[in-house]
Amino acid sequence: MKNKSLLVLFIAASTFLQAQQRCGYNEVIEKLEAQNQGLAVRAIQEAAYQFAQENGLQKSGPLYKIPVVVHVVYMSPNENIPDSLIFQQIQVLNQDFRRLNPDTVLTRSEFKPTAADAGIEFFLANIDPQGNPTTGITRTAGQPSGFLPIYDPFTDNVKKSALGGKDPWPPSRYLNVWVCNLLNGFGVLGYAYPPAGTPPNWPADSAPADSTVQGVVIHFPVFGPNNPAATGPLTSVNRGRTLTHEVGHFLGLRHIWGDGGCAEDDGLADTPPSDSDAGQVCDFTKNTCPPLSGADLPDQIENYMDYAADSCMNMFSQQQVAAMHFILENYRKPLYESGNQMDVNALSPAELNVFPNPNQGRFRLHRSGWTGEPITAHLTNAIGQRVTEIKSIPAGTHFDWSTPQLPEGIFWLQVSNGMRHQTIPIVVQPH
Ligand SMILES: [Zn+2]
Repeated sequence: MKNKSLLVLFIAASTFLQAQQRCGYNEVIEKLEAQNQGLAVRAIQEAAYQFAQENGLQKSGPLYKIPVVVHVVYMSPNENIPDSLIFQQIQVLNQDFRRLNPDTVLTRSEFKPTAADAGIEFFLANIDPQGNPTTGITRTAGQPSGFLPIYDPFTDNVKKSALGGKDPWPPSRYLNVWVCNLLNGFGVLGYAYPPAGTPPNWPADSAPADSTVQGVVIHFPVFGPNNPAATGPLTSVNRGRTLTHEVGHFLGLRHIWGDGGCAEDDGLADTPPSDSDAGQVCDFTKNTCPPLSGADLPDQIENYMDYAADSCMNMFSQQQVAAMHFILENYRKPLYESGNQMDVNALSPAELNVFPNPNQGRFRLHRSGWTGEPITAHLTNAIGQRVTEIKSIPAGTHFDWSTPQLPEGIFWLQVSNGMRHQTIPIVVQPH
């Protein structure tokens, strides 16, 4: 009873807050930013420019493929959203990040030259952390513990099995997306954190110390396009773009208004300065700040990193794309490296090879194109019995294997990275 009356109070208090917020992180950022204004915010621009120059922005095809696991954590049947909605949401995410969204025609002419294909794609993971096939979707009947029986961004309880949520899959290798009844719908649509190590455009200490909370949380009615639960004020955000926005944060982007007045910025020059969010409407006359230089462009309400209605969001800018690539390369590298591996079930022969082979129990295991994670390996005999201990092989390009005691015969080197497995025949000659 006590909890129930508190909950009612909580909901009543929420009516005084802004109707709906795309994400709940800016309050935290506003507080932090007050203490950390200045040069750091603009440093990302330099880094992104340099990265774009070195790597080029206009490459064909996806540059990065990221595995996603969607954790549906529900308290009532309608929160247990169907697979079909999840598939559609992944499709929206891919369209938006490849600029294949059908509404690119709505980007205003002054922004078309800087609107960009982010070159990033997402797929539901097909291998789980234990190396087993998976749909990339988990379902948990949740029971949030805590002061109030709700999922909230303060305790991150949806991300913790011990608090009635669902533990993440390794956040460095998967983009974890939790879908739940967030704050009982009182106004936050989703939230995400920048990567650990705090990219240069974020205030210091923006990333949580706990790496297991990395990922994205989405309020269930705004997950997926045309979600039947997106009613009332949520109809303006019913095209699945809350996830696009939050993944933008996850990949290091900030709100285009810099979470402050005209003097605050997202650190990128091709998103014009703005002093406020777009307020979940489509106001094409909004122009709140003078330009930092050059022409006075309107506020870029088309940008996914503003708070406009879903129907007028349709672009990332070139510098946002360069910034996300910079973040991926420097802060979230295992995410797409693992992702590429999970496109297939086995470590490819191109990545792993052994020589000499045949040998006399001593050989070198070479790894190419993949040195970021340790692997394990052991040998089995022709009938599958393990004949050596399981060796932990540290990250690196090669490993010298030595088992001179092996008798003549055929053996199998079983290699695993925890997600994929490869079996390499080893022929041991008389010695
Ligand atoms: Zn946001």
